[in-house]
Amino acid sequence: MSHETPLQLLLIEDTEADALLIRRQLEQAGMNARIQRADRMESVAEALEEDAWDAVLYDYTLPGMHFGDTIELLRAKRPELPIILVSGTVSEEMAITLLSHGLNDFVLKDSLLRLPGVIRRAVENASERTRRKAAEEQLRKLAMVVEQSPTSIIITDTTPAIEYVNQAFVDTTGYTREEVLGRNPSILNRGQTPQETYAELWATIAQGLVWKGEFRNARKDGSTYLEMATIAPIRQPDGRITHYVAVKTDITELRDSEARIHRLVNFDDLTGLPNRALLLDRLKQAGLTVHRTGRHGMILVLDVDGFKFINDMHGYQAGNGVLDSIAARLIHTLPEHSTIGRIGANRFAVVVEDLSRQHDRAAAQAHDLAERLHEQLGEPHFIDGVEGSVRHATTMGLYLITREREKPDRLLNKAEIALQRARDDSRNTWQFFNPEMQALVEQRSHLEAGLHQALENREFKLFYQSHFDADGKLTGAEALLRWFRPDGEIVAPDRFIPLAEETGLILPIGEWVLEEACRQLRDWSANPETSDLCISVNISARQFHQPSFVDTLVQKLEAFEVEADHLVLELTESVVLKNLLEAEERMQAIRGLGVRLALDDFGTGFSSLSYLQHLPFDILKIDRSFVSNMTSDNSSAAIVRATIAMGHALDLKVTAEGVEMPDELDLLRRFGCDAYQGFLFAHPVAAEHWTLTNATML
Ligand code: C2E
Ligand code: CA
Ligand code: CA
Repeated sequence: MSHETPLQLLLIEDTEADALLIRRQLEQAGMNARIQRADRMESVAEALEEDAWDAVLYDYTLPGMHFGDTIELLRAKRPELPIILVSGTVSEEMAITLLSHGLNDFVLKDSLLRLPGVIRRAVENASERTRRKAAEEQLRKLAMVVEQSPTSIIITDTTPAIEYVNQAFVDTTGYTREEVLGRNPSILNRGQTPQETYAELWATIAQGLVWKGEFRNARKDGSTYLEMATIAPIRQPDGRITHYVAVKTDITELRDSEARIHRLVNFDDLTGLPNRALLLDRLKQAGLTVHRTGRHGMILVLDVDGFKFINDMHGYQAGNGVLDSIAARLIHTLPEHSTIGRIGANRFAVVVEDLSRQHDRAAAQAHDLAERLHEQLGEPHFIDGVEGSVRHATTMGLYLITREREKPDRLLNKAEIALQRARDDSRNTWQFFNPEMQALVEQRSHLEAGLHQALENREFKLFYQSHFDADGKLTGAEALLRWFRPDGEIVAPDRFIPLAEETGLILPIGEWVLEEACRQLRDWSANPETSDLCISVNISARQFHQPSFVDTLVQKLEAFEVEADHLVLELTESVVLKNLLEAEERMQAIRGLGVRLALDDFGTGFSSLSYLQHLPFDILKIDRSFVSNMTSDNSSAAIVRATIAMGHALDLKVTAEGVEMPDELDLLRRFGCDAYQGFLFAHPVAAEHWTLTNATML
């Protein structure tokens, strides 16, 4: 034993000779021990502060020490420490009584031979007790953890019959322990978990492996819940599987919130349609399908024009109602497996698959579909809470999905580019994206680069196109902007005005146009032949809605001493509809200055006189698309005739734009049109070429 760490023995003994005897006895028995003697209560207490004792040897008859107190002290400080009574004066019967006081053993001084064995046994017993206690403590903790775990825990034997369930199981399922012990866990199964799940579960644990999966189980009251389960076999030390343990978490709520998040992330709140994110995902699928089947697909993007106007005019509820109504019509009109998404405030997108394999045939199908949609969406919407009906125009951009693998955002982007093209070209309500269109996009950025320097480099010029009254008398001209690029290209306003509008460059450009027109009016006023002529200036939306617009106008009129009634400002419907209330106020202010207002391009927008009649216009200009169709198409003629009559009823002078043919002029005259403008009379020309010779009616 000498190689072991020595036993630490505390010897409570007053007689030095007895202590020696004990030492010797232990040495002779070959026991490696360090013995410390204490003979007073204080020294015992002090010794107990050290933690290292293995056993206490105690002489019962110690003068000045009370046995009971000492034992109490020992037990209080070191409950596990074995105490062995070593005494010469205690009868064995008495020693037995003392054992009941917490002594572990006793040895009479005349049989000290026994002492080493007694010490060894006591020490071993004590350490075994400690070990067992620690193990019990650990088990107790484990049991508590299992019992109080927030996840359900079920232990079964291999039949499988339930042997144990914890409190969480009871709480989750509503079954008491008594109701489930000894039964098969399948009592929770009401057939809502697929059969394959069980097959897979048994196949897995039969191999001794851990299985993870989901059950849809039923509580005692019949309500169902979704749980995530891990089921593992329990092996004995010899490897035999005797039990299974299932750890299960109720994930019903988790799944619900997952579903909620999924909805929020992927669907538009208002219409319940997929949003941009989900639409892109569907586009990706469509791309794959097209690639696999060779059948074309289509992405169509659609804007509800004047949506802001609907909101302003009828309120948000009505706006939402219109969106809902549009969603319903899209669903109704499109093939069953199409995806319809709302990807912006007033923008929808549609993905259609299964078009023809032939490119031109697919294009025709896409075209037909766009036409059908346009027709459907052109019908008025009847919205709860709105008197009468609501109408809106629609602009669409289309792109055919081919087998070329294109990224979903590229596909959407191309349809949106086509949409922008359709928007820029007021005669088309929809447009295809095609390679040429891409070139246009590039051209656009080239234009934009040049536009920034154009004013500074004096590349702009105003052209003038004459106006005539019903008697053929020249009354003035419309100022039309031309951009002469340094490379010799002359850029038409239709190509750069929208761009200038987007970039904000329209503000300085528009101000320059206004100033140039005022300068021209001043020049004309000096000559009696031209002093009565008026100039019409086109005003863009951004320019008109700029807060300083009226101030700038006043400033120009004053600077060039222009008579206000010689100036006409032309506004389109979309300009005033951007903000109806503000527009009305601003128009009143302009009217107050004596400047007149013309409604430009009438017929291409909402063309709803019911709201236009509240706006202080003086002149109504019928769009040239109606004029040019008038002689070939009865309905155009009817529209022109009605517009003229309506304009007169509202006390407006009506001008016809784009008069090219004598027939058109005849018809317009018969309808009572007040004024004319068009190539039939004059093309727009630079001021220096604008002579009174071109100012006579044919
Ligand atoms: P708009 O205000 O409708 O101007 C009339 C357009 O029709 C002009 O095109 C004119 O050249 C064209 N036009 C006139 N008579 C005929 C005809 O008999 N047949 C045909 N086919 N066309 C005719 P332009 O000059 O290319 O201007 C296009 C548009 O650009 C204008 O349409 C106007 O909206 C805008 N614009 C032109 N100048 C300005 C400007 O200074 N400021 C703003 N904001 N816009 C301008
Ligand atoms: Ca105009
Ligand atoms: Ca016009």
